[in-house]
Amino acid sequence: MTDRVYPWLAEAWRRFNAAIAASRLPHALLIAGPAGIGKRALAEAMAARLLCLSPAEGLACGQCRGCQLRIAGSHPDFLSIAPEEGGSGILKIEAVRDLTAFSQLTSQYQGHRVAIVSPAEAMNRNAANALLKTLEEPPAEMVLILVSDAPARMPATIRSRCQSYRLGMPAENTARDWLMSQGIGQGEAETLLALSGGAPLQAMAVHEQEGMAHWQALVRDIAGVTGGQKSPVEAAAAWQEAGATAVNQSMQRLLALLMRHQYAPVNSALADQSFQKLAAGLSAGRLDRIQRSLTDLRAAASPSLAKELALEAHFLLWSPA
Ligand SMILES: [Zn+2]
Repeated sequence: MTDRVYPWLAEAWRRFNAAIAASRLPHALLIAGPAGIGKRALAEAMAARLLCLSPAEGLACGQCRGCQLRIAGSHPDFLSIAPEEGGSGILKIEAVRDLTAFSQLTSQYQGHRVAIVSPAEAMNRNAANALLKTLEEPPAEMVLILVSDAPARMPATIRSRCQSYRLGMPAENTARDWLMSQGIGQGEAETLLALSGGAPLQAMAVHEQEGMAHWQALVRDIAGVTGGQKSPVEAAAAWQEAGATAVNQSMQRLLALLMRHQYAPVNSALADQSFQKLAAGLSAGRLDRIQRSLTDLRAAASPSLAKELALEAHFLLWSPA
């Protein structure tokens, strides 16, 4: 079995399989919901299921010719379009033209042809208009899967032609149990989720990329500033390598954790003495103000602003009032 479906997506998966069983699969699906919950993985699993020649228990078998070609990235009936890497982040008409051309071919394996568009809200107007033409006259056996964190930013004409899979944030215990099944301890799993707004895959990414030491160091430096033992300049010095953008994101995550701590105390490796001290010294109103300032700083980030100054401005926010 090559494709697993995350436990919190089981209901969406059942619905998808029921549509296949009833021969009621629409030509276009829109998978919408918050970032970090596995929408893209769900789209991939759907594509895999549709391209598999002998699905087992509703999942792609991982063994057949269809699965092998897909896994090798060379299935002629599969296409995935996305913004150019390292580019503007906009999904341009050239990519949608590839999709139009793809949609006009016939299946090489007498099965479905599947295309994924992700993130669908990244299409500019020309690209969206081109996609609309394909949606208006969908070729037989073609299934288009659109993935979006922000469906409201897509044209209504496109949304209305898709069957919607609206996914919410998973229940906290489901997300925590899944993280624990990946070998993460309970306290750390709860902390990671709080740092990630409850999104389990985001929590996993935070775990893999940063680890607890990163957060402990950040808490220590911020607590030093808040307590008046460290100047913002001293605190910023240790974060030069990470840079202002990464520090801004980490501080935003930490704020989410501190806010949560106000009504449900965090119990984890991160909730050490520095954290307790920091949390005790910051009111809800102050956390709110810091959050707004962080958002302003992110918006103001520009290459012309000296790196050191940008970092110091971040730590300055936590100075004693
Ligand atoms: Zn297969």
